[in-house]
Amino acid sequence: MLTYNNNYYTSTMRDTPPRPALSGNVRADVCIVGAGLAGLSTAWEVVSRGRSVVVLDAGRVAWGASGRNGGFVLQGWSEGMSAIERRCGQPTAAALFKLSLEGVDIVRDTIARQALPGCSPMTGKLSVIRYDDAENLQRLRDKMATAYDFHLDYLDRDAVRERLKTERYFQALRDTHGFHFHPLNYCLGLAGLIEQQGGTIHEQSPMVQVERREGGHRVVTDRGTVDCGDVVYCCGGYGGPEFGPLRRAFLPIATYAVLTERLGPRLAQVMTTTDAVGDNRRASDYYRIVDGDRLLWGGRITTKNLQDEKRLGQLLTADILDVYPQLSGVRIDKAWSGLMGYARHKMPHIASLGPGQWACTSFGGHGMNTAPIGGRVIAEALCGESDRYRLFDAYGLQWNGGPLGPAAAQTVYAGLKIMDFFQETRSQRKVATPH
Ligand SMILES: Cc1cc2nc3c(=O)[nH]c(=O)nc-3n(C[C@H](O)[C@H](O)[C@H](O)COP(=O)(O)OP(=O)(O)OC[C@H]3O[C@@H](n4cnc5c(N)ncnc54)[C@H](O)[C@@H]3O)c2cc1C
Repeated sequence: MLTYNNNYYTSTMRDTPPRPALSGNVRADVCIVGAGLAGLSTAWEVVSRGRSVVVLDAGRVAWGASGRNGGFVLQGWSEGMSAIERRCGQPTAAALFKLSLEGVDIVRDTIARQALPGCSPMTGKLSVIRYDDAENLQRLRDKMATAYDFHLDYLDRDAVRERLKTERYFQALRDTHGFHFHPLNYCLGLAGLIEQQGGTIHEQSPMVQVERREGGHRVVTDRGTVDCGDVVYCCGGYGGPEFGPLRRAFLPIATYAVLTERLGPRLAQVMTTTDAVGDNRRASDYYRIVDGDRLLWGGRITTKNLQDEKRLGQLLTADILDVYPQLSGVRIDKAWSGLMGYARHKMPHIASLGPGQWACTSFGGHGMNTAPIGGRVIAEALCGESDRYRLFDAYGLQWNGGPLGPAAAQTVYAGLKIMDFFQETRSQRKVATPH
């Protein structure tokens, strides 16, 4: 049975009763497949517009990536803005950036307006670089201000060292718009709102196929059916062949996270900021303080979904000690992995797949703001309010490489890691031998 794994969020989650599996035949305007943040956000936007909704999940609400991630809610997309500019041109890139900010605001405003409990939002993110490059970082800050009207604070090396006690980092940009939070409690809160508004959620109800019917669709699970006008696919990295061409357009990529023991006074020897932190590696290390004095640390991406908690703990402990050797001997209390859906172009699939069929998925490692705005633009399209989803037209269902896809992705990732290594070693040498 697909259910919550043992991670930091499940040990601090709100009470959530199991929802019954779908049985028999039901009707709704819209059926949403997947109850992660993408499916729940879409459902909430749709019921808020007065349409009836049934949400189906193969496991439990937000048991997948949405309930076990880093909890960073930040502007932007999995793909970088320069690459988006190159592919779509500056005006569309600017519109997409604005959407990504709207996604951050949706989450923050929903927590506040609906008084969602247990979400613990905390403002601030430091993006640190692991090699010396003050000039380029300031250039990036200026470009974000002029091209995107997005303002970041520049921190020099001393200012970074005041906050983060490590030799590894150089300069940083501070984002005071983004925040970090408890994503599982947010999703559980959204599920409650959907139900209060008349929507229905069925857990342990995997969609096995979708049939086109006169005037709509029949969504078939192992024990029931939903007759509906529109279907929205929100399967993240957990979808299988039942998603047809959509499944061939993304790769499930695994990533890992750990929770340290309570650090007590040792925490001050590591960091003196409550900002979330991420570095500029291609598969970045990211972390933040949770529970007052623990670190929730994440990193690494791979096509092999390692499940062995002990091994995961060892891998990420090595990453932690590389940055903070003063934590030598630190105990890992929890270690877990999760799957993300990545398209080759690294942008989500937010698209019409034909009459009455929609995709709102493949958010990669940057879904906490993008899934909520994805849900909103799909709901707007369904209800005939806007065609903002067309901003994603340049990013279609590109083939994921089939059986060779994971191997190719792993090779590319290994190459990128080597590039990180050379860039960082150059910087460390420069610092060791100043001239
Ligand atoms: C360890 C980790 C750390 C991360 N950190 C961050 C972060 O700090 N910030 C950030 O922005 N992003 C982060 N991400 C990425 C983010 O979590 C994802 O982009 C986001 O949660 C994707 O949401 P989703 O709803 O598309 O997918 P999921 O939450 O995975 O949900 C997909 C759902 O679809 C269901 N499903 C699949 N197939 C079927 C079927 N046939 N029938 C019914 N249901 C089905 C699954 O059961 C699952 O519940 C992280 C991811 C991981 C794994």
